[in-house]
Order: sequence, then C-alpha cells, then structure tokens
Amino acid sequence: MAAIEVINLTKKYGQLEALKGISFSVNEGEVFGLIGPNGAGKTTTLRVLSTLLEVTSGEVRIGGYDLVKQADQVRKIISYLPEDAGTYKNMKGIEYLRFIAEFFDEKDRDEMLRRGVEIARLDERLNDRIDTYSKGMQRRLLVARALMIKPKLAILDELTSGLDVINAQTIRRIVKESARQGTTVLLSSHNMLEVELMCDRIALIDDGRIVASGTPAELKARYHAGNIEDVFVEVVR
Ligand code: ATP
Repeated sequence: MAAIEVINLTKKYGQLEALKGISFSVNEGEVFGLIGPNGAGKTTTLRVLSTLLEVTSGEVRIGGYDLVKQADQVRKIISYLPEDAGTYKNMKGIEYLRFIAEFFDEKDRDEMLRRGVEIARLDERLNDRIDTYSKGMQRRLLVARALMIKPKLAILDELTSGLDVINAQTIRRIVKESARQGTTVLLSSHNMLEVELMCDRIALIDDGRIVASGTPAELKARYHAGNIEDVFVEVVR
C-alpha cells in the first residue's frame, strides 16, 4: 500500500486554481521531493495533504485513509513542518519538546523526549529560552518536534530554508535516518542539490501541474542533464 496516493487533486483559492489536477504516489519509507518555481503549488499541496486546506476535487489517501472522510485518522499519522513554523519563544527548548511529548501517551513520552533531544543537538542550549536561538537552532528544534514522534509520514516544507551548509547537512542526515527507521517523507525544496542528495523520487510541479517525475537518475537521463538544477531549468523554461 502506498503511503500517499494523490489522484487528480485540484485546489482553488476563490477563482485561482492553484492545483490543476495533480496525481502522484509515495511509497512507504520513501523520501519524495516536490520541486518547482515560486507559486507553482508546492506549499498548497503540502497544506492540503496535511488537512490544513480543503480539497476542491480529487482523491487523496494517506496511510490508506481517505483525506477528506477520515481527516482525524490522517492527522494522527502525520507530522507537518511549515516553512515559516514558529515556536513559543518564551519557552526553553527542552520545555517545548516536553510540551509536544505531552500530547502523546504517557508511556511514549520519555522516548520521544530522548529522540527530540538527540535530533535537536542543542546540548546545553536546550535550557535557554527559544528567543535566544539563532534561526538554524530554531529550525533544528522544529525538525526535532516534527520527527521525535516517529510519524508514519513527515511533511516538510522547505526543510532547510535559511540554514547554513553545516546545519542543512545535519538536518538532511537526520531526515534520512528517520526515513530508514520507517518514516515516509514528503518534502519541498528550492535546493536542487538537497533534492538530488535526499530524495528517492521527485515530482516537478509548475503552474499547478506535475510536469515531470521520477528518480533523480531517471530525470537526469531523460533531460540529458548533469544535475537536477539543469533538469529544472530545462523543464520549466
Ligand atoms: P513558493 O516556492 O514561492 O513558496 P509554492 O510552489 O509553494 O511557491 P504556493 O504557495 O502553493 O506555491 O502558491 C500556489 C498559487 O496559489 C500561487 O499563485 C499563490 O499566489 C496562490 N496562493 C497561495 N496561497 C493562497 C491564499 N491563501 N489565497 C490565495 N491564493 C493563494
């Protein structure tokens, strides 16, 4: 069974049709990347799949559940990291992770917190208030929040936006490790190297339509391109 099955999904904001009938599927344990130019519909897709925006038409199944009819079930198995996610700035990092763990069964909380601390890698800074963190430190805390609960599906919008190379690489490694441990990952990115390094498969979305998809190797071969950036330029041009 696919972790995500999207069939002919459309999404309208008033008159504007942001998604014009997209279809794709993501297999369990896969890291799947959505790429595309500004305004293509990536965030809209991720927000619809996270149950935060209503489907206009089409069919989506997540973990076998119908996104519209079984939204509560879907919410239990996903973890969504928005591009511009915020935290509670006057909490300490460790308090924030504890606060998240408290939404879950008592028996699982200690293990979740342990994982959160491990993923965030903020060491003693976890005892400082979040408003003293740099952007990269905040993002690491948020990635820890998203992955510490071992979701069946993590939906990560612009995973490493605003991060330096070292922080970005650390976070990519953590996400890959989570995928190895059974979390399916759907992410969006403007960083083509990141997508090429991380994703088992990629869909390129442009003006609300999927215009190319496949493994990085398939896409490069199909467009006679040396890297995914060249594929992107070729397809979107
Ligand atoms: P970016 O790379 O710039 O983040 P994106 O691929 O994530 O872009 P979306 O944010 O999904 O693109 O936007 C897709 C289209 O939907 C755009 O034309 C955008 O203007 C429009 N749109 C997005 N959110 C809204 C909204 N809340 N109301 C109206 N239109 C919206």
